[in-house]
Amino acid sequence: MSDIIQLLPDHVANQIAAGEVVQRPASVVKELLENAIDAGATSIKLLLKDAGKTLIQVIDDGKGMSTTDARLCFERHATSKIRKAEDLFNIHTKGFRGEALASIAAIAHVELKTKQEDEELGTQIKIEGSKVSSQEVVSTSKGTSIAVKNLFFNIPARRNFLKSDSIETRHVVDEFQRVALTHPDISFLLHHNNNEVYNLRKSNLRQRIVSIFGSKMNERLVPINEQTDIITVAGFVVKPEFAKKKRGEQFFFVNNRFIKSSYLNHAVVNAFEGLLDHSSHPSYFLYLEVPPNTIDINIHPTKTEIKFDNEKALYAILRATVKHSLGQYNVAPVLDFERDANLDTPYNYSKKDTPSVPPITVDPNFNPFKSENNFQSTPNTTTSSSSGSSNSSNYSSGNNYQTNYKKDAGSWEALYTDSSFESDSNTDSDSDLDINSDISPVSNFTSFESTHQEQLFESAQETETGKTFQIQKKYLLSSIKSGVVLIHQSLAHQRVLYEEFLENITVKEASSQQLLFPVTISFSSSDIEMIYSIKSDLESAGFMFDEFTKESVVIGGIPTSITESQITLILEQLLDDIKLEVPDASFSHFDVMAKSFAKSLAIKTGTILSLKEQENLVNNLFSCKEPSTSPFGKPTFKTLSLQEIDSIFNK
Ligand code: ADP
Ligand code: MG
Repeated sequence: MSDIIQLLPDHVANQIAAGEVVQRPASVVKELLENAIDAGATSIKLLLKDAGKTLIQVIDDGKGMSTTDARLCFERHATSKIRKAEDLFNIHTKGFRGEALASIAAIAHVELKTKQEDEELGTQIKIEGSKVSSQEVVSTSKGTSIAVKNLFFNIPARRNFLKSDSIETRHVVDEFQRVALTHPDISFLLHHNNNEVYNLRKSNLRQRIVSIFGSKMNERLVPINEQTDIITVAGFVVKPEFAKKKRGEQFFFVNNRFIKSSYLNHAVVNAFEGLLDHSSHPSYFLYLEVPPNTIDINIHPTKTEIKFDNEKALYAILRATVKHSLGQYNVAPVLDFERDANLDTPYNYSKKDTPSVPPITVDPNFNPFKSENNFQSTPNTTTSSSSGSSNSSNYSSGNNYQTNYKKDAGSWEALYTDSSFESDSNTDSDSDLDINSDISPVSNFTSFESTHQEQLFESAQETETGKTFQIQKKYLLSSIKSGVVLIHQSLAHQRVLYEEFLENITVKEASSQQLLFPVTISFSSSDIEMIYSIKSDLESAGFMFDEFTKESVVIGGIPTSITESQITLILEQLLDDIKLEVPDASFSHFDVMAKSFAKSLAIKTGTILSLKEQENLVNNLFSCKEPSTSPFGKPTFKTLSLQEIDSIFNK
């Protein structure tokens, strides 16, 4: 039989290797920035177009390359950083595998310009899919510029796999921040689509953190410093009162390399014990130095996990160090988590001291569904609906949810009226609730309200039912004609809010409430950029933006369904959700937004609801177009038919 094994051609091997090294624009950014640092640059510029999908260019003032090296650097295993296997144990550079440029050149159009200090002229090389297309002598300044264009141009499957620009930008910014945070002595510039996102001057660590995360950060940082035989810990933790509800700015660097470690994170969180409420996450910037031979040095280029020899000791030292610093800086005693959360919000409240300032009011009778509501088939409801809607809910959590209940309570009241609709008492309860199969041809939203609920719930005359009970501050139990219905209060409320928001965003003119005093909210500049990129969508939802600065947005109006104190939470949640969004053909920011808002604002498990609030919730849920699932596909309620209940006891 003939031989069948062949060596893969280089460009194929490079493409395969590229699959490991380059997953997305952010991977290229990481490699290019690290090369620039290894080259001794003092100033590094990163220019992006379309989240890096069209262009990633890194320009440095490092030592540059000779003409031969410029040609060689694109070869696989071409590195100037190690020469023999023993060097692996004494690495002081970021790269050493000699893979990055070869991989990048295999899957993009690359243009390299480079010049060494003592040379008159430099070299320019263009390379596409591993093939050099031109090499010229050029006049250029000292250092290296590498432009990577049209990433994955020759691997459409990979290109299509890339996520939306906002997500890819987020990943790039994450990498950029990690590199910038490890080199405060280098100045960095980041431009995206010709907008300046970061301009970080050479500085110290504190200033670097502040210039990345906003000037508010300065007073929030608690320094950490500890030196032991096995580890040196330096950096900052953020005071616990500024812990993030949703995500912390959490950075561990080991020997100046960004790493992720849930184990070490646990040590830090543990040190905050008693200072954080359980749902918030501390922010930290912690730099650990350990002897290189005590960690697994052969770190994969794209991996951020790390193995330590003496994990347990590191845990204990880290925890004790952070705890000590929090105590030393007297952070603990000033904490009081019971205080009004509004005091912690970075809003511009100073102007609001004057008692004469009228409060911001919302029309409690505002009803986004009004035009569609028609209760003519149940005339008894007209009188009760006004009393229902004027009862603004104020949940015990202290948050003002009044605007979330804008629908008429009338349809709920209808459940108690004697109904002319008598459904077969043997009807299976689940099919009663299946609006899709059961709606009459002329039916719409309205007829669902006026017929289904009457069928679903027993009339008041027949029994004492229709009442709801709250169970474990989590579920609502209500008696219905065919048995009982158990409703998950939080998931049900998510459904109600989701439909309300979608309707507000997509169908109607955005209903917006103008704020008497515009609210200024601080974000990192990358978050600002993301908010800016979805500005028009947010405006459709009812937000009004007065001004964007590098570190803040000034908000002049908000959707009627949210309150001022919820703005930060909602926007932070939205940024998180957009980051995680999986775009597909039908992808729309509106849906992500409506889901995100619903998640942020829905009443939570643990919230005690008054009887009226319970009624409103049940009422609003069954007025929804798809009451049976939450916006995230979880069931909102479950019915138990009488037969099912009977069968429990007749075993
Ligand atoms: P590695 O960084 O692992 O050595 P790379 O493929 O990233 O592998 O780079 C290959 C080589 O190209 C480097 O070892 C270095 O000599 C050279 N090089 C890459 N980028 C630069 C740069 N910005 N300035 C100077 N030399 C560079
Ligand atoms: Mg490298």
